[in-house]
Amino acid sequence: MGERRKLHKCTSLLTLIIFLSIFLLLISLKVKAKQRDSRSKIIVIDPGHGGYDKGVSGTGGTLEKDVAIALSLMIADNFSGEYTAKLTRTDDYQVALFDRTAMANQSNADIFISVHTCGSFLHSARGIMIYYFKKLDENGTVEAPFSVTPLQNGIIQPSWNSLQESYREAGKILAESIKESILRETKLFDIKIQEAPLLVLGGADMPAVLIETGCLTNPGDEKKLNNKKTLQAVSRGISKGIKKYFLMVTD
Ligand SMILES: [Zn+2]
Repeated sequence: MGERRKLHKCTSLLTLIIFLSIFLLLISLKVKAKQRDSRSKIIVIDPGHGGYDKGVSGTGGTLEKDVAIALSLMIADNFSGEYTAKLTRTDDYQVALFDRTAMANQSNADIFISVHTCGSFLHSARGIMIYYFKKLDENGTVEAPFSVTPLQNGIIQPSWNSLQESYREAGKILAESIKESILRETKLFDIKIQEAPLLVLGGADMPAVLIETGCLTNPGDEKKLNNKKTLQAVSRGISKGIKKYFLMVTD
């Protein structure tokens, strides 16, 4: 009797161990699959301006091109080990506007974000603006400035601004996700979302937004953008907003 009870106990323990092992194996496989899946996402980050093109100059001398690269590097860093982040420029040099978008298309990116700061003649202009694409009117069609033959390898090449048109709604959802996430990281900026016929977004063949993080022409915003901790909080908000967008569209 005692032997049988012992044997029964042993079998139960063995069954429990087998179940636990299978459970842990399934979890590790799921985690690995998720990691593999998220690493395969490509985000192209475009630091605005660069080189001789300084962008907006703040009253205190801060340059838009410097804020754009600093913030873009932080965003890319936030993704390290999780997603693949590529930058259209990694230092202080000029890259043609259409080449930036073309880089995102050639990388087969899942998201394209262009990073800028705002500049205005109005002293009151301040805060963060997130733009998603709005199609130009009938007469405002823009063609890519580099040579694109209308027919290439038997495939009709689409016009520059027709590509982003199909991602407008996705761009709007992405903008809202980024706005929410930035507000969770910092309350220092008012954030607005707006649609605009921006050339750099027009030819992007994936959801795309352009972010103006604060107005350098506003001394208050300029001071905030010179604070590394504030810039890091904004960068975390942008990265988390992109991550949340991926979860929203894949689940
Ligand atoms: Zn700019």
